[in-house]
Amino acid sequence: MKTLYLVIPCYNEEEVLPETSKRLLQKVHHLEAQGRISPQSRILFVDDGSKDNTWTLISDLHRQDEHFAGLKLAHNRGHQNALLAGLMTAKEHCDICISMDADLQDDIEAVDKMLDENDKGSEVVYGVRSSRKTDTFFKRFTAQGFYKFMKLMGVDIVYNHADYRLLSKNALEGLAEYKEVNLFLRGIVPLIGYKSSSVTYERSERFAGESKYPLKKMLSFAFDGITSFSVKPIRWVTILGFLIFLASIIAIVYTLISKILGHAVAGWTATMLSIWMIGGIQLLSLGVIGEYIGKIYTETKARPRYRIEAVELTLDTEKDT
Ligand code: UDP
Ligand code: MG
Repeated sequence: MKTLYLVIPCYNEEEVLPETSKRLLQKVHHLEAQGRISPQSRILFVDDGSKDNTWTLISDLHRQDEHFAGLKLAHNRGHQNALLAGLMTAKEHCDICISMDADLQDDIEAVDKMLDENDKGSEVVYGVRSSRKTDTFFKRFTAQGFYKFMKLMGVDIVYNHADYRLLSKNALEGLAEYKEVNLFLRGIVPLIGYKSSSVTYERSERFAGESKYPLKKMLSFAFDGITSFSVKPIRWVTILGFLIFLASIIAIVYTLISKILGHAVAGWTATMLSIWMIGGIQLLSLGVIGEYIGKIYTETKARPRYRIEAVELTLDTEKDT
């Protein structure tokens, strides 16, 4: 029997936790009763430095039932890092783990389907949204743009897959080998290798509370995703530079011929245009190069990606008396 760890990052999720924990516990009990997972299976909540009562709730849950476990990060490190902290803790104890959001947007029933796929030999199972009906038009539009752009950049990510996925112990061990600080799990998981498959599910509305991904976080997430995985922007700048170089040679030849023929007029417009054009391109290039240098900078610092402040986890179901 396999030990399953459900890993759930939580940032200010006090409004949804009571319901989420109830439903997850039901699911775990059910799977246990079916003999599909071992009694050592756990629901591991990762408190990503919440400012509300999230950690108190998690501790209470742990006290009530050993199936609940908690991990408290010392700071808010963002969804990806919180998830990684949970996965790396789960890796030590589980055979398989499934990551999902705390807000019940990921259909818990898809867990069964993921386990089926795992039984059939998949070490990675992606949860793929069959529709985004419940997302706002803006979210759908930007998300679609993001997936398309990533594809254009040559990054292999699974369309409409967020962070609802099953990873086997092997896959987790593979993931642990990726030491980069700018973490983008959706891009890294396909690189781990192993047999993978997908299951589809309906994405529902957030159960309660507000999205913890405001536009600012969404943009930096997308930006991280692109710059951590692709050097194509740099290549584009190089190509652009080359094309402009060619164009300027033609322009020089043209100017010289005009001069020789004696009908060259000192062109104020052309001067201004070229100054602006070159200036603009230089700035753009500097920006892109700077972005990559920034990445090198953070990577070479090799700061810890998270720090665990407290752990509440009982490994064996038999309590000491
Ligand atoms: N989350 C987190 N840290 C953050 C932001 C979000 O751990 O800094 C968690 C959040 O609690 C939730 C998941 O990441 O479990 C997805 O966030 P959310 O549902 O707000 O994003 P959305 O569904 O709106 O994209
Ligand atoms: Mg959500």
